[in-house]
Amino acid sequence: MTLLEVRDLTVTYRQGGRDLPAVRGVDFTLDGGEILGVAGESGSGKSTMALSLLRLLPPGAQIGGEILFEGENLRTATWGRLRAVRWAQASMVFQGAMSALNPVRTIGQQICEPILLHDKVRERAARQRAAELLDSVGIPARRLNAYPHELSGGQRQRVMIAMALACRPNLIIADEPTTALDVMVQAQILELLNELVSGTNIGVIMISHDLSVLADMCSRLAVMYAGRLVEIGPADQLFTEPRHPYTLALSRAFPTIGDPVSRLAPAGLPGDPPALGTQTSGCAFAARCSQVLPDCLTRDITLWPGGPDREAACLRVLPEYADGDGPATDVP
Ligand code: ATP
Ligand code: MG
Repeated sequence: MTLLEVRDLTVTYRQGGRDLPAVRGVDFTLDGGEILGVAGESGSGKSTMALSLLRLLPPGAQIGGEILFEGENLRTATWGRLRAVRWAQASMVFQGAMSALNPVRTIGQQICEPILLHDKVRERAARQRAAELLDSVGIPARRLNAYPHELSGGQRQRVMIAMALACRPNLIIADEPTTALDVMVQAQILELLNELVSGTNIGVIMISHDLSVLADMCSRLAVMYAGRLVEIGPADQLFTEPRHPYTLALSRAFPTIGDPVSRLAPAGLPGDPPALGTQTSGCAFAARCSQVLPDCLTRDITLWPGGPDREAACLRVLPEYADGDGPATDVP
């Protein structure tokens, strides 16, 4: 069943008197019970896209398009409606979430907060639920009275996951939930998330700049470049048979082992992504693409079908370009 349907989503940030497009015409759907991975280099618009879904962007950011969550367009929903939806129906684990915990309140108080707000239960029942949640993320319930600084980074991230699950939402958006953690803890947290949602109807959007992190746990993958979705499809296929040259470059990216917080550029990919607001015709990736064709610089590029359940924004998926040099232009 479709949980979330995103249509022609655009986001602009107001800066220096200009509206700079950070997300440009993104379309995708998410079913209940599915984990959709979103990958892409730093600055490709992943967090902007994620935050826009629950309208959590800073003032000045403008959202266009449709965000149909359980049939309701959150793009035009009232703030009151959004407050009711957040936590209770859709929750978010923020990028750098470990530092998002309030340092002067116990983790028990913080986990209870959304429960008390949304579930209309008494303090005692909320604490009971908080204890169960902590236990489910592998932290002893007696740690409810601990303050954030008394926990390790991995434990704090587990607390954030517990909070995201507190009101039993149908949608969880996790933005780089493990990036600042060491590789072992990263793997444990991802496994935990996977366990918590498998067999449920919870839909998850899981964001990472590291395709290999996503390949394991996601059923589908979406790849973003310069604010656009450039490829989407079954995770295993995207990883083994990428249709977009950018996905190929990402899949060859250096492993982040030993340097988990670094944002290494994909291996063998020259140059940088275009700066925000750069006007280009044709494909935004053309300047860095090893397989660029003359038409890539001029033709409008959108997502085209690239096989069953797959789409890619690359001319080469079109039959007329499949042989490598594009359609003949000098037809007699
Ligand atoms: P990362 O992997 O580093 O988290 P990302 O893919 O999440 O990157 P975003 O944080 O969504 O990328 O940023 C997309 C673009 O929007 C970047 O060029 C960024 O500089 C810009 N941007 C992000 N937040 C703001 C803001 N509040 N105001 C203006 N520009 C912003
Ligand atoms: Mg981000």
